[in-house]
This record gives sequence, structure tokens and C-alpha cells, in this order.
Amino acid sequence: STDSDVVRRLESESISKKSLRSSGEKFEFQAEVSRLMDIIINSLYSNKDIFLRELISNASDALDKIRFLALTDKDVLGEGDTAKLEIQIKLDKAKKILSIRDRGIGMTKEDLIKNLGTIAQSGTSGIKKINVFNVLVEKMQSSGDLNLIGQFGVGFYSAYLVADYIEVISKHSDDNQHVWESKADGKFTVSEDTWNEPLGRGTEIRLHLRDDAGGYLEGSKLKDLVKRYSEFINFPIHLWASKE
Ligand code: ADP
Ligand code: MG
Repeated sequence: STDSDVVRRLESESISKKSLRSSGEKFEFQAEVSRLMDIIINSLYSNKDIFLRELISNASDALDKIRFLALTDKDVLGEGDTAKLEIQIKLDKAKKILSIRDRGIGMTKEDLIKNLGTIAQSGTSGIKKINVFNVLVEKMQSSGDLNLIGQFGVGFYSAYLVADYIEVISKHSDDNQHVWESKADGKFTVSEDTWNEPLGRGTEIRLHLRDDAGGYLEGSKLKDLVKRYSEFINFPIHLWASKE
């Protein structure tokens, strides 16, 4: 009734790409999302740095949400590391992975399917978000300027400016830990996570960097970018880079 209108669950198709898990449940992106992702993947837009601004801002939003809940119920913060409201960015040079982790509210399986597969159908303003979105896509396509992407509730997908394969691992208190993954080929997979380290709570976005985006594995470059984009972020951001 709800998600099924816009996200098609692929029942029997097997995805051949090796790195995608064959055990997960498969979905097709809403057509508008697919179109946006095609534009992003094929974009010649040179300011790819904006992906970091969008992912840091999402991490910060998720931390805001759990901090708000904690105002009335301290227990929601959990114990030990889980209670630390922070953002961690890690660079794995050998595997060419840039990951961003937060200890925010996290996403349930249904959240992952809805938030990272569709564009909300209606807004409180009465203006259909989808119409605004279509105008945005036209504009981005004709101007080649993707900088406005975050203002239209689709900033997450800018990560495909630098990555050709993304895993989103998430743990929300109402559900088990799940992994969302996509190679931006119109499909995504969601699986219950039985192999990664438990996050406790929150989300880890793993960007498998494109060959032309290897520069983002340089600690000094990332440090400068994080500094630039963390100016209005109210949570600590820690950066780690592997030696090799
Ligand atoms: P926006 O942030 O404007 O809503 P995005 O495309 O950046 O649009 O993100 C879409 C949605 O995905 C968010 O509204 C949120 O519900 C979910 N989301 C993205 N990143 C995270 C995260 N790190 N933790 C929790 N939810 C997230
Ligand atoms: Mg966002």
C-alpha cells in the first residue's frame, strides 16, 4: 500500500554483480530516483566534494534526532561507546573505502527501503515534492550544477559522484541491523546484517570509491574538507586514515 507503490520489490531476479549479496531482498528504485542517479553517475560536475557535506549533514541530523529523544528518556542513548554522539570518518587505502559512521537514530529495514529508494510523495506545504524534484532534475541536467542537491531532500545520492558501489549499514532500536547496497544500476538490495560488526546504534555509509576519486583517500585532503564542512556541525568528527 505505501512503499510498494513506488518501490518495486524484485521477487525472483538474481543480481549477477559479485559484490552484491545474493541472499538479500531486491528492490527497484523509484523511477525518479533512478533518473537522478544516472545524472549523478554520468555527471562531469567538478565539485565532487559536496558529497561529504551531504553525508556529514545526514549524520548530524540523525544525531540530532537521538539527542532530542534523550531529552525525555536518557536511556535511549545506551551505554559505553553507543552513548557517544559523534561522527567517525575512516579511510581504508588498501580497500579504497571511505566510510562515515554516526551513532544517531539509525534506520530500520523499512526506513532504508523508503528513505534510500524513494522521494517522499507529499510535503506539508501541499506542493508535491515530486514536482519540485522534477524541476530540480531538469535544472541540474541543463546547467550541470549539482550544488543544490541537498536542498531537495536527495543529498544522499550525491555520494555516487565519488563511489560506484555504496553499502549503508544501519541499526535502529526498533529493528535488527540491516545492510542496504547498490551499484546505482536501478536496483538495490537490503539484507539482515549477519556479518559486520554490530554498530550498537546508528549508521555507517561505506563508499567504494570510483577509480577517479582516489584522492579522497588522502588524509590531508579529507582533513581540509571535514574542517570546511564541519563548521556548523554540533558534534565531534573524528578522522582516521590507514597507513597503506
Ligand atoms: P534529506 O537529508 O534532505 O532528507 P537525503 O537524501 O540526504 O535527504 O537523505 C534521505 C533520508 O535518508 C533522510 O531524510 C534520512 O531519513 C535518511 N538518512 C540518510 N542518512 C542517514 C543517517 N546517517 N542516519 C539516519 N538516517 C539517514
Ligand atoms: Mg540530507
